[in-house]
Amino acid sequence: MIPSKNMTKTLVDLDEEPGAPLRRPEDRRSRTVNYLRLSITDRCNLRCRYCMPDEGMDFVPHEEILSYEEILHLVGVSIGSGIRKVRLTGGEPLVRKNFLSFLERLAGIEDLEEISLTTNGVLLKEHAAAIRQCGICRINVSLDSLKPERFFSITRRDVFHRVLEGIEEAERLNFHPIKINVVAMKGINDDEVLDFARLSLERPFHVRFIEFMPVGKNNAWSPERFITAGEIYSRIKTLGELEPMEHGAMDGPAERFKIRGARGEVGFISPVSNHFCDTCNRLRLTAEGKLRGCLFSDHEIDVKTPLREGRGDDHLSLLLRRAIQEKPDGPGRAASTPRKCIRQMSAIGG
Ligand code: SAM
Repeated sequence: MIPSKNMTKTLVDLDEEPGAPLRRPEDRRSRTVNYLRLSITDRCNLRCRYCMPDEGMDFVPHEEILSYEEILHLVGVSIGSGIRKVRLTGGEPLVRKNFLSFLERLAGIEDLEEISLTTNGVLLKEHAAAIRQCGICRINVSLDSLKPERFFSITRRDVFHRVLEGIEEAERLNFHPIKINVVAMKGINDDEVLDFARLSLERPFHVRFIEFMPVGKNNAWSPERFITAGEIYSRIKTLGELEPMEHGAMDGPAERFKIRGARGEVGFISPVSNHFCDTCNRLRLTAEGKLRGCLFSDHEIDVKTPLREGRGDDHLSLLLRRAIQEKPDGPGRAASTPRKCIRQMSAIGG
């Protein structure tokens, strides 16, 4: 097949023949990209106000969503391009049919060093044991309020207690770490910052505060709703000394601390106030098969079409490496400016 103009450029840029062993999975800023976030569906059983409209969501037609077979194939190829860690996200990954048999197959892929799951926790209680049996122990549960009425007002669904039961079941089954992800929003839930942090005192949870990002098609971001990770840190400091935790090679962008004497940790993720582009090791694959190098950039590379056209692994591998190479240098203005993005967060996977 004759390479398209873009392909020609890619081959020149990469300075490598397709199929050649990759020297290092580095982008042009020498960032090592070894982490793939996979959104396996854009469907969700919650309707968080900052993420999705209550009605009228334009879901991707089922036939346009990557099949499990296709995802597994692409993960296999991505390993040849340096990916070692995969996180499953959505939408809500647990709502996709036959998720557990998919997970079992994913867990069987050699050379994948880490698989983790991000969930809203609604279906966690019933699936936790089977997930654990697949050898998965790392889990992130998104939870923005510890108050049932407020949870309902944010998510538009009355399932707060199911999420808590899911987290308890994960703790009972020794998932580790159990990360509780909180999107902090001024005037919405920032008055609960200390309550969330206190959770880490008695329980082994890693509570992580994530800055509200102006990303997504219908995002509800505004400067008035924004609170920096730095401000949250200052508030939590009042609970006790914050001891910094060491950063592992596979760790994400959270700045991690332990409140002195705590069983768990607190962490701060600051994509807006202090973006971590210098150390970003992530690539994203959307539910409909587009590779994205950055949440804040709409630059995408389609891998589904060539996959469905029967293009070989060499070609797919080239596209993966191109996506790594073309990771934006930084967020530009986008990280602090409200903007529409071509996709909902639910399709990108957060
Ligand atoms: N359903 C799963 C869940 O709830 O974790 C996975 C998908 S969800 C899109 C992934 C994460 O993105 C959630 O923690 C959610 O709170 C977060 N998220 C969505 N929109 C966001 C925004 N504008 N700013 C910051 N985080 C956001």
